[in-house]
Amino acid sequence: GQTIGVFTSGGDSQGMNAAVRAVVRMGLYLGCKVYTIKEGYQGMVDGGDHIVESTWSGVSGTIEKGGTIIGSARCKAFREREGRLKAAGNLVRCGINNLVCIGGDGSLTGANLFKQEWKGLLSELYEAGEISETEMQQTMYLNIAGIVGSIDNDFCGTDMTIGTDTALHRIIEAVDAIGTTASSHQRCFVMEVMGRHCGYLALVAAMASEADFVFIPENPVASGWQEQLCGKLKQERDIGQRLNIIIVAEGAIDSHGQPITANDVKKLVTERLGYDTRVTVLGHVQRGGNPSAFDRLLASRMGAEAVMALVDASGDTPAVVIALDGNQIKRRSLMGCVKRTLYVQEAMKNKEFEKCIEARGRSFAK
Ligand code: ATP
Repeated sequence: GQTIGVFTSGGDSQGMNAAVRAVVRMGLYLGCKVYTIKEGYQGMVDGGDHIVESTWSGVSGTIEKGGTIIGSARCKAFREREGRLKAAGNLVRCGINNLVCIGGDGSLTGANLFKQEWKGLLSELYEAGEISETEMQQTMYLNIAGIVGSIDNDFCGTDMTIGTDTALHRIIEAVDAIGTTASSHQRCFVMEVMGRHCGYLALVAAMASEADFVFIPENPVASGWQEQLCGKLKQERDIGQRLNIIIVAEGAIDSHGQPITANDVKKLVTERLGYDTRVTVLGHVQRGGNPSAFDRLLASRMGAEAVMALVDASGDTPAVVIALDGNQIKRRSLMGCVKRTLYVQEAMKNKEFEKCIEARGRSFAK
């Protein structure tokens, strides 16, 4: 059986533990050795007790835990070849030449670069006497399977990323909770939600919470939005609605590219309509708590598929990312998906929203 290393990198998200657990157990089930690498790339560079062989019971009782119990970190050293050389040495000495990388686009880009450099790194380590000829021969190719953990659902090629559904639950719970008190006092409340440059969380949260208005980065509001918003709120009040909900994505902008914040909206509603308006910024609450059933299942399926992809790899197989397509788990080109994601980020920066929305569709990868 192969030897696999699994790690979580970049920002954490709920469901990462379920993915690690599935990788460990599927690996063991298929006769592989599985190591967990702590603190992402930092643990790979530091080696030692950061790289630990895992057991079946070692990942027991982790599926329901939020965040990542094997730790995640941003690692400067891994951005330099020197750091990646150290990381390669630590992996090879454990016999690891298969990696499951659970992270965002940055982490996956790093993994792909590592794969491209692998042969050169190994030769250098061998010449420096850091690894033996046998070690080098046994780990000649580096196989990579990526899994996207992110609450933003901002990665191209997969319908859902691990953590998004749970974050949505957190938002909805908060809206429901605030809604009851706001309704008692006929208040308007404005909630800012995460998502960076992606409006997915805000949009679906608005749909699921009967919000009156939503601001997302992909659809900058045109001039006159103030009248439109106030008109809508007033219309709802006039027909007896006691509560107004407005959702603002953290990257929301107007058609001039000016950011729209929850406080801007509050000021407007207070000044023009005189409604008692409150702002709630959920922040890291959205990343917290136990993963939803959906995220546990998604992560379990993706983790199992990642291992199967690595077991199937022979020779120098291109890196894959595990994706959800409809209700199917699929393997896609890691670099294809990363490139598309970067293209979307660029299009967002240049305010080419149609290009961005089209590119985000999953049809491209079929
Ligand atoms: P998130 O979406 O939460 O930001 P991410 O994976 O995109 O997750 P990054 O901070 O971009 O987060 O990347 C995590 C780590 O991956 C970095 O700290 C670095 O160690 C490694 N990494 C990212 N980009 C590269 C790269 N181009 N080359 C080498 N390593 C990289």
